[in-house]
Amino acid sequence: MNAQRIVVKVGTSSLINSNGTINRSSINGLADVLCGLKRSGKEVVLVSSGAIGAGMGILGLERRPTRIPEQQAVAAVGQGELIGIYERRFAKYGVSVAQMLLTRDVLLYPQSKQNVSNAFQELMKLNVIPIVNENDTVSVEELDHMTKFGDNDKLSAIVAEVIDADLLIMLSDIDGFYTGNPSTDPNAELIPEVTNLNQSILSEFAGGKGTEFGTGGMKAKLNAAKRVLENNQQMVLANGKDPHIIEDILAGKKVGTLFRNVDDIRRVE
Ligand code: ADP
Repeated sequence: MNAQRIVVKVGTSSLINSNGTINRSSINGLADVLCGLKRSGKEVVLVSSGAIGAGMGILGLERRPTRIPEQQAVAAVGQGELIGIYERRFAKYGVSVAQMLLTRDVLLYPQSKQNVSNAFQELMKLNVIPIVNENDTVSVEELDHMTKFGDNDKLSAIVAEVIDADLLIMLSDIDGFYTGNPSTDPNAELIPEVTNLNQSILSEFAGGKGTEFGTGGMKAKLNAAKRVLENNQQMVLANGKDPHIIEDILAGKKVGTLFRNVDDIRRVE
């Protein structure tokens, strides 16, 4: 796949073990793949959830907090730990990372959008991999709420828009977009490619509520895909169990679900 500027989003479920601790092998895998892409001359931005999970580990909490202020506090504890782990892993490959805490409203204010874009451009010039998360202290939109939908799915599409990325790779705990929720529908089948993401698909596949540690849900991912297609970009939803799947995606292997516009010229088989 002919993508030069790539946003990779990893969901909580790929980063946090079922007992709430950080999945270090996932982070090692990400470091290996993303630093490899960097070496091959690609521009990479990582959007990473996981601050609440990391904070739960530090504070010894067994259950994800349900109140938003609690989530904000636990995320604030965990964000430093999360970025520290990334920093150390990526340093092994000689790559520096930058923490970027954003809010979804950056697109609403032209000056904010420009500032964020400038910072990204500069970091990419410095060969640094920006690691983005929502600034949970300022904005709680990507936090859990009561519905468990949200996560960083929308934020990753916004980042793709701000940096004019070619491709958004969304890594989740599922192999792609199915005809129904595979956890409740045994007949659900993987859809390899979606070229027409209309409102009926969006409402039909409102999706389940996600895993205990995953809050995006399929609806948030489809809405992100819609935004990506509106910007004439592409998105691949794939299983983040092993982040090396990113290499398969870029090699054009048929993994996950590719969302693209029918007449997209960026696509190279
Ligand atoms: P993440 O933490 O990776 O963002 P989520 O748990 O929020 O992931 O969302 C992925 C989950 O969405 C899947 O594990 C699955 O249970 C659910 N889901 C609902 N509808 C679908 C669908 N049509 N195709 C695939 N997964 C679906």
